[in-house]
Amino acid sequence: MKNWKDLPDSNQEFRQSAERRLADTGPDVTGEPQHRLLHELQVHQIELEMQNEALREARAIAEHALERYAELFDFAPIAYFTLGSDSRIQQTNFNGERLLGAARSNLVGRRFANIVAGEHRPVFNRFMENVFCNPGAERCEIVLDSGGKSSWVSIEAIADADRKSCLAAMVDISERKQAEQELQLAATVYLAIEEAIMVADTDNRIVAINPAFTKLTGYSAEEAIGQSTSLLKSGRHESAFFQAMWHSLNTTGQWQGEIWNRRKNGEEFLARLSISTVYGENGLPVRRVAMSSDITEQRRAEEIISKQANIDPLTGLPNRRLFLDRLQRAINKSHRTRQKMALMFLDLDHFKDINDTLGHDFGDRLLEETSLRLKSCIRETDTLARPGGDEFTLIMGELKDLNSIERVAQALLQTMMAPFQLKDERCYVSVSIGIALYPDDAETLDELLRKADQAMYAAKKLGRGRFCFFTPAMQASAESRLRLTNDLRHALADKQLWVAYQPIVELATGKILKAEALVRWQHPRRGPIEPTEFIPIAEETGLINEIGTWVFHQVAEQVWNWRMNYYDQFQISINKSPAQFHSNSDKLSDWFEHLQRLGLPGSCIAVEITEGLLLDGSTIVAEKLAAFKNAGMQTSLDDFGTGYSSLSYLKKYHIDFLKIDRAFVSNLTAGSTDMALCEAIIMMAHILGMKVIAEGVETEEQRCLLLKAGCDYGQGFFFSKAVTAEALEKLF
Ligand code: C2E
Ligand code: CA
Ligand code: CA
Repeated sequence: MKNWKDLPDSNQEFRQSAERRLADTGPDVTGEPQHRLLHELQVHQIELEMQNEALREARAIAEHALERYAELFDFAPIAYFTLGSDSRIQQTNFNGERLLGAARSNLVGRRFANIVAGEHRPVFNRFMENVFCNPGAERCEIVLDSGGKSSWVSIEAIADADRKSCLAAMVDISERKQAEQELQLAATVYLAIEEAIMVADTDNRIVAINPAFTKLTGYSAEEAIGQSTSLLKSGRHESAFFQAMWHSLNTTGQWQGEIWNRRKNGEEFLARLSISTVYGENGLPVRRVAMSSDITEQRRAEEIISKQANIDPLTGLPNRRLFLDRLQRAINKSHRTRQKMALMFLDLDHFKDINDTLGHDFGDRLLEETSLRLKSCIRETDTLARPGGDEFTLIMGELKDLNSIERVAQALLQTMMAPFQLKDERCYVSVSIGIALYPDDAETLDELLRKADQAMYAAKKLGRGRFCFFTPAMQASAESRLRLTNDLRHALADKQLWVAYQPIVELATGKILKAEALVRWQHPRRGPIEPTEFIPIAEETGLINEIGTWVFHQVAEQVWNWRMNYYDQFQISINKSPAQFHSNSDKLSDWFEHLQRLGLPGSCIAVEITEGLLLDGSTIVAEKLAAFKNAGMQTSLDDFGTGYSSLSYLKKYHIDFLKIDRAFVSNLTAGSTDMALCEAIIMMAHILGMKVIAEGVETEEQRCLLLKAGCDYGQGFFFSKAVTAEALEKLF
């Protein structure tokens, strides 16, 4: 098959070709006129034949091309339509059928406009007008509704030369449109959403943020992008918090929680944060998207609401609800730890009368003031609550020492003794306290409440302004302590106290070179009372200072006497409680002056202190110890081995004697661990420049072992109990 190019393209060419063909085959042409005419005819004949042939060929080519183009048209991957100016379909291809979901026979003759979705018809009509008016191709995107499904198409159409029809090419763009719409939606959401969005890459560099992020954090896109995600870190969370977050991100790709972050201006805020991971095609993370919102205010509001539900607005104390909750927790804890807990019911005496006569306003102020006063008497771990009216409750948990209940109750009564003053009004209000113990008095919350209430009524009945235990035994011991406290106040003046002396023996020689002064109380009715019972009361009430000074004066005179008559280096040690060290009323200068008046050096006295005092580290303690040292007095560390037993700080405080506790000494047998420890302590003490006194030596064996271990002095029943000064003199 020849191509278009191979055909002669002008008459001139045909003629030349015909001439050449004739010259090859025909006779020679002469100049004769008849010859010339014939020649012309022959040439024309050939020319005509050639033209015919060319035409035939051209038609064949054209027909073939048409066939090919019809095929192309039919099988083109694009839907083609030929539409009339009234949009009637004249022709379409397979893809056109497929696009509209109908056979060609059903389509031809239908108006295309009827297939266009209603709301898109105006657009389509304008488009068709443009196609037939304008010279070039036109484009539009519309939705078609055909065969029950709708699809987005892009149409490109160009009118034929006669402007009676047009060729329209259509592509289904539904997928692209959907993606576009989703993208647009996402973009709208991204821009408009209230939540701050931060996108980070796998190096934790910020790659994108939205406007809400800027609003929340104060960082603009320029400032944030490229920064590390730790830009917002507040420093409020431990590293364990972030470890858990990363663990979750690495295992599940997700993390949700609350986090304290920091804004650009330094302000911290609580954010609810959710992080998700975007994975690449290889399944590895490529992006992390963090969405957060500020919940600081919300949390604050929640706290206020929960506070309102749990707090008494007048006093700021827990209300009934929170009190019951705390009580249940305290009971559970007590059950778990096997430590006792106490519940106190406090009721203001005659509050109703005050309220009625002085007005509710005064009543309110009084309750406020009461709550402040009560609060000042309790430990931080205790819960003071106001369940209602003029009733207060106190939960005391983790009780190691039951005496502390009574101590607190006393303090509460005491603090209420001062008058309440409001403007011109002044009044006195006492409180009645009922106390019940868990698990001693009750096994359940309700029972405990009932028992405390009963105890409180008992207190009222007994005359108000007092406390009552639910348990008779507790009540009895509390009352006895109370009486003892009152009695102790008069004991000094009534000369019921006296000082006993226990000899301290130099182990190597058996000589009594020292003695410890131990105070004794001869109670007029109860007989002798142990120092272990009354010294704590003296400490609580502050009477210990008075007693201590009195003991000191007794001892000073005694040591003067013994130095004169027995041994000129004699030394007496006196015990000093921590309470005395912390007190300001303890005038050391008076002590030193007293020694001077008697012409005694400081070294005639040793002060016994306990380890706890040294560990407390307060300056007032250090100052007083230094004052003793300056005055030449010596110091002994009492009860060594029962407390922290650390030798390291002893050097710092210049301790002269170490007293090994009797609990330690009583277990001494040859080769025992206690023996080994004893030996070690003695050795260490000597290295640190201290002498060692063993307390509680009761047997000859103990004396021997201690002597062998290098112990300097011994004290205990083996030598003598604490006795009167006269009795001790007999032992010299
Ligand atoms: P402490 O200072 O450890 O006194 C030693 C206690 O052990 C004394 O008890 C003493 O009688 C007792 N004791 C002595 N040798 C033996 C023995 O071989 N075996 C046994 N089982 N016990 C022995 P006391 O006199 O009842 O004193 C008890 C605590 O009272 C003293 O313990 C001391 O901490 C305190 N205390 C005594 N008098 C005073 C004082 O005047 N002022 C201060 N602040 N506290 C004092
Ligand atoms: Ca002592
Ligand atoms: Ca002791």
